Amino acid sequence: MFLTPNRENHKERLLKSLKSFRPSGRGLWHDISEKDWNNWRWQLKNRVSSLEQLQQHIPNLSQKEIDGARLADTKLAMAITPHFLNLIDAEDLECPIRRQMLPNIDETYTAPWELGDPCGEDGHSPVPGLVHRYPDRVLFLVTDRCAAYCRYCTRSRLVSNALGYDFRPNYKEQIEYIRRTPAVRDVLLSGGDALLLNDTKLRHLLTELRSIPHVEFIRIGSRIPLFLPQRITPELCTMLKEFHPLFISVHANHPRELTTEVRDGLSRLADAGIPLGNQSVLLKGVNDDPTVMKALIQKLLMCRVRPLYLYQCDLINGSSHLRTSVRRGLEIMEQLRGHTTGYAVPQYVIDAPGGGGKVPVAPNYVLSHNADRVVIRNFEGKVFEYPEAPDGTPLHPRPAYIEEPELV
Ligand SMILES: *Cc1c(COP(=O)(O)O)cnc(C)c1O
Ligand code: SF4
Repeated sequence: MFLTPNRENHKERLLKSLKSFRPSGRGLWHDISEKDWNNWRWQLKNRVSSLEQLQQHIPNLSQKEIDGARLADTKLAMAITPHFLNLIDAEDLECPIRRQMLPNIDETYTAPWELGDPCGEDGHSPVPGLVHRYPDRVLFLVTDRCAAYCRYCTRSRLVSNALGYDFRPNYKEQIEYIRRTPAVRDVLLSGGDALLLNDTKLRHLLTELRSIPHVEFIRIGSRIPLFLPQRITPELCTMLKEFHPLFISVHANHPRELTTEVRDGLSRLADAGIPLGNQSVLLKGVNDDPTVMKALIQKLLMCRVRPLYLYQCDLINGSSHLRTSVRRGLEIMEQLRGHTTGYAVPQYVIDAPGGGGKVPVAPNYVLSHNADRVVIRNFEGKVFEYPEAPDGTPLHPRPAYIEEPELV
């Protein structure tokens, strides 16, 4: 028997190669000692943040990228950790890591519907650095710094401070608000990236939050496990363990971001009993493809990370070139539900422009809903009916006067 190569075969091979775990490699940093390379402070200090540095590592920059890098400091700073920069395939102008991280002059084009604060966070901020949009939970902005900057960042008005927003979190005031607002049972630490704080500062902040009796649940939203896996030290994990129930939401967009170093860091967090979720942003040329998305979410499960959200890219200023349509997003979701592990399937959401919060969007599986039945279709397109009584009681209950048939 022999197999003829066909499309399915090709897809399977592609999926397999996307899912394999590889180390990040050293690139031009091959003579750096193991100790330095694995030190998160060394990684931060040696971030690539100027056009000249970028050109050394990626010689074939396009004119759009060169112009973008020149202007980055007036919009959203460029900074890429050596670990993450090495994931860029320098040969590939369309490399999905490159598209997320390299500034591009296309960012200076602002579509009429784009905004500086697309999710209306500033309008829901009772004290600086706190967003209280939902009844029982708050978003706590810890810092305006990240280990590296994503070009589509929804908070690019403040992160990296290139636009002069001059974000100054006042932890005391933020904590005071939570303390006097008993409705807040859930605090989400974000920014910027809370894991940039050193262990002592982070422990202090978490201790303050845990001292508030009505704070039941704490989670940290962080891209550091991907950008800077060296930060996930055993000491950090031991410290975080003291603050359970503590969850971490990471942010991975492409399977190649899940390297062996990242897998090991995530494993340390999971071993510390921290449930891990992932939030991806749907990005054109990065993950707007069912095979890539499937590889990403399956690979995340192998790292004990549960894919939680797939975000439609926010209408942030200068992001048109990275945005893909909701129609495409729905097509991708259609290829996931039923086709792979339920745990792997994220919720696709649009953060409603102007400040409506996360709105779930999904392919339509309900074909009609009449008085006596709901007509549904499954992942293969097969149609089924689920009968129901108009008032919601089950149809045709067994009347009480019918006796059980006698068994012979
Ligand atoms: C996403 C978000 C949250 C968390 O919402 P969940 O539904 O719990 O994931 C809280 N506050 C703000 C402002 C958010 O954007
Ligand atoms: S890590 Fe998060 S907050 Fe920081 S630049 Fe990327 S998307 Fe924005």
